[in-house]
Amino acid sequence: MAIRCLQSGIDDLLVVEKAEAVGGTWHENTYPGAACDIPAHLYALSFAPKADWSRTYAGQPEIAAYLRELVERFGLARHLSLSTAVTGAVWDEARSLWRVETDRGPLEARVLVSGMGALHHPALPAIPGLQTFRGPLFHTSAWDHGVPLRGKRAGVIGTGASAIQVVPAIAPEVEQLVLFQRTPPWVIPRNDRPIGPRMQALFRRLPAARRLLRAAQFWLREAQAALGFTRVSGLTRLAEAASRRHLRQQIADPGLRAKLAPPYRLGCKRVLISDDYYPALTRPNVTLETGGIRTVTPDGVTMQDGRHHPLDVLVLATGFDVTASLARVPVVGRDGLILARAWGERVAAHRGLALAGFPNFFMLLGPNTGLGHNSVVLMIEAQVEYVLACLTEMRARHLAAIEPAPEAQARYLAELETRLSGSIWQQGGCASWYQDASGRNIALWPGTVVAYQRAMRRPDWAEFVLTPARSPA
Ligand code: NAP
Repeated sequence: MAIRCLQSGIDDLLVVEKAEAVGGTWHENTYPGAACDIPAHLYALSFAPKADWSRTYAGQPEIAAYLRELVERFGLARHLSLSTAVTGAVWDEARSLWRVETDRGPLEARVLVSGMGALHHPALPAIPGLQTFRGPLFHTSAWDHGVPLRGKRAGVIGTGASAIQVVPAIAPEVEQLVLFQRTPPWVIPRNDRPIGPRMQALFRRLPAARRLLRAAQFWLREAQAALGFTRVSGLTRLAEAASRRHLRQQIADPGLRAKLAPPYRLGCKRVLISDDYYPALTRPNVTLETGGIRTVTPDGVTMQDGRHHPLDVLVLATGFDVTASLARVPVVGRDGLILARAWGERVAAHRGLALAGFPNFFMLLGPNTGLGHNSVVLMIEAQVEYVLACLTEMRARHLAAIEPAPEAQARYLAELETRLSGSIWQQGGCASWYQDASGRNIALWPGTVVAYQRAMRRPDWAEFVLTPARSPA
C-alpha cells in the first residue's frame, strides 16, 4: 500500500508498525522450518519481482530479507514508525479525520488503512495446568531461539501449517518428540526444489521467463479453486485420493496411517503441503499422540487415560486468535459506532475492505478475502489498487469522506452469503480458524482470485456515499 501510494504521488503517509522491524508474519514467525506454502515467484509483489529466489518455496529468512530490501528499494524508511502500537482510532466527524492513539502518542490521518492481518495474536489452548509447566514453554510465533533442543524431550501441541513445518525441522535434533494431534490435516506433496544459479540468471536476463513461470503457478492454483477447493466436487475426491496415496507411500505402519487419516473433507481446513512431515513421524524418536490431553503438569503432559509424557520443552503450535484480532484495537466510527460491535453477530465488510459508518477506513485482507488455494498477496494487491482509486477520487473531487452506502453493502453481503452457502466450509465437517463460533466462514474468499480481481477492477461510485469537503468560509 505504501509503495503504491508513493508511486501514485501520495507521499504524506505514515506506516505504523508495532514490531521493531518490517515483515509482519515473516518477521515474527522464525520457528525452525518456517517457509511459505506458495511458490516464491508467485508470492512476491507483482510490481517488485525478485529473479534470484533460491527455492520453489522460499524459507522465512529469505522472504523477511526480501521485505526489508523493499524498504530500501522504494525509499520507505522515512515513512515508517516502527515499535509503535496503535491502541485505538476515533473518527472525528467535525474535522473529517481519524484521531489515532498509539503507545507513543496521538496521530491524525484523513484516511486510515488497516494492514493488521489476523494471524498475530497467539491462541493459547485452555489446557488445565499449562502455566505450571516448569521447562521452556513457547508459541511457534514467538520461538525462543535461546533454548537448546539437542538432547531434550520436546512436546509439540497442534498439527496445523506451523506444526508440520516445525516437526521435521526439530525431530533430528531432539532426543524425543511427542506430537499431540487433535485433528489430522490433509497433506499433499510439496515438490520443493532449489532454483540454481543458471535458472536465476535466466530469470534476470529474461523477465518473460519468470513471468511465464509465475503465470503457470497462478493458473494451476486457480484451476484447483475453480474445480474443487471451494465446493465438494469430483476434484475434491481426486485430491483426497492423491493425499491418501501420499500417506500410503510415506507411512508403512497401518496403525500410524489410521491415526493420520482425516475424518472430514479435503479443503474444509487449510490443505497442507509437505514431503517431510510423514517421514518425520516414522522416526524412532517421534511419537504421535492422539489421545486427548487431560492436563499439563510441571514435568510433562498427562493424557485422558492417565498415561504421562515427561517433557523438557513444550511448543504450542496452536494457531492464532483470529476473530479477536481487529477487535483488540478499538476503531470507533461515526456516532460512536465501535467496529467490533458493528460486526455484532457477523464479521463482514463491503468488498472485504470497507464498512458503512466508518468513513475513510479500509482494511487490507479484511473479512472473507483470505485464500487457501493461491497467493493472498494477489488479493492484497487488488485491494491496494481499489483503495488507491478511492484516494485519487477523493483528491480529484475534493471529497472529505468516502464510505460504503448501507444498501450497497447489504447487497454485496447477500451475494457473498449465496456464494458461501453450500461451500466446503459449511459442509466439510470440520472446524478451523476460517470459521466463527457459529461455523460460518469469515476468513476466506469463496471463489477464484480472478473473480475477486474482476469485482475489484474499479470502484462503482454508486456503491459509496461521497461527502464533499466544506468550501473554506
Ligand atoms: P492452525 O492452522 O490454527 O493450527 C492449530 C493447531 O493446533 C490445530 O492442529 C489445532 O487442532 C491445534 N490445537 C489448537 N488448540 C488445541 C488444543 N487445545 N489442544 C490440542 N490441539 C489444539 O495454526 P497454524 O498452524 O499456526 O497456522 C495458522 C495459519 O497460518 C495457517 O492456516 C496459514 O494460513 C498460516 N500459515 C502458513 C504457513 C505456510 O505458508 N507454510 C505456515 C504456518 C502458518 P484442531 O485442528 O483440532 O483445531
